[in-house]
Amino acid sequence: MQRGVVIVGGGHAGGRVAERLRAQGFKDTIDVIGSETELPYERPPLSKACLLGPDLIANAYLLPEQRWRDLEVTFHLGNEAVAIDRAARRVHLDNGRHLAYRHLVLATGLSPRRLDALGPVASGVSYLRDFADAGRLRDRLRPGLRLLIIGAGLIGLEVAASAVSRGSHVTIIEAAPRPLTRLFPQALSHWLSQVHQEAGARILCGRMVVDAVAWEEGVRVTLDDGRMIMADEILVAIGGQPNDNLAQRAGLTVDDGIVVNEFGQTSDPDIFAIGDVARHHNEIFARGWRLESWRNAEDMAAVVAANLCGLRQAYREVPWFWTDQYDWNIQIAGVPAAGADILTRGEMGQRGHLAYYCDGRHLRGAVGIGCGRDIRIAREIMRSGAAIDRSDLAKRGFVSQAEPVGA
Ligand code: FAD
Repeated sequence: MQRGVVIVGGGHAGGRVAERLRAQGFKDTIDVIGSETELPYERPPLSKACLLGPDLIANAYLLPEQRWRDLEVTFHLGNEAVAIDRAARRVHLDNGRHLAYRHLVLATGLSPRRLDALGPVASGVSYLRDFADAGRLRDRLRPGLRLLIIGAGLIGLEVAASAVSRGSHVTIIEAAPRPLTRLFPQALSHWLSQVHQEAGARILCGRMVVDAVAWEEGVRVTLDDGRMIMADEILVAIGGQPNDNLAQRAGLTVDDGIVVNEFGQTSDPDIFAIGDVARHHNEIFARGWRLESWRNAEDMAAVVAANLCGLRQAYREVPWFWTDQYDWNIQIAGVPAAGADILTRGEMGQRGHLAYYCDGRHLRGAVGIGCGRDIRIAREIMRSGAAIDRSDLAKRGFVSQAEPVGA
């Protein structure tokens, strides 16, 4: 085998690009450097199924170990890539070794953002990004545990749902006026807050943590309105920061993520970046962004694998993600933004509820509760750029939403 591709990051996108390379007939060496000790796995179960039962982690692996051997993918697990020597085309590892590459793929993902206000209170404070974090949290959840979750984003709310199902007493603190401000339209976010409150979780919005001290058996947290909350366990879920330092040190263009073109190439055409760490331009929505979603990891990996095999494929996808909380599956495609003209079908909070966010005759975003198939169709419409037919939608039960539904 000739010197081939080195992949830094053995997570979802890193594993998938290795698999796709072989599926496309790539014959040269594939090396994956992963700072975790696990083979590539998918992260969505970490905040859901993994917290509910002991054996569910096994289902999250991308491929069984034997399959990786059959594919002749070499893993360097428990090793961190610490430097890229672009002139010599080498990646240096923290164990003193280096790997030579013809092409390099950076799939280094995110690290959870830390909360300074918690200062020295280390014990009883956790973050959730990997198997080890999920295992620790799962072992601590129990009936009666006072769990304080800081951040009502997707991960915070999913953990809240899992913890409530395990009998824990959950309080969620959110700095913004409502949960999921950036991602969810207002009506959806209000409904979801209600779902959590009815299940027994307490949500305090518009509040910040200013101080935390170890207190008796737990932690005493002070909020900016002076209120104090006692917790046995704190989960900080306030978003992530792209792991782009390695790329920055190597002189690649970085701007809150590694900047790539439509083919996944960084400012060095022999180096690609994919997944959560990659900032790309989206032609369909005419804007640049980093997407932190399962679908984006899959799609970017597929495009970059094709390009490494000599094809010239552009990444042109409609963002899509889902969340599972209690018995609800919510899916979002595109950009359901404020100011759009909204058409809805079904009642908010009912399975089958679907909202279309339109810009004139074009669909720009869709939100659905328990209607994955409709969201798939919406993605197709957005990807194709086809105009929507309002009279047809009216026949299918869509009505214009009168009240504003902000972003
Ligand atoms: P990751 O999977 O994070 O992989 C990056 C890997 O690179 C990590 O293993 C990291 O340790 C390693 N690494 C970093 N730096 C180095 C280095 N220098 N050397 C070697 N290795 C390095 N998305 C959805 O669409 N729906 C969901 O319901 C959903 N739920 C989620 C729940 C949780 C708890 C989390 C954490 C994420 C969830 N996501 C969800 C997001 C989705 O999992 C991510 O978008 C996806 O994992 C991104 O893949 P990635 O390969 O870019 O990053």
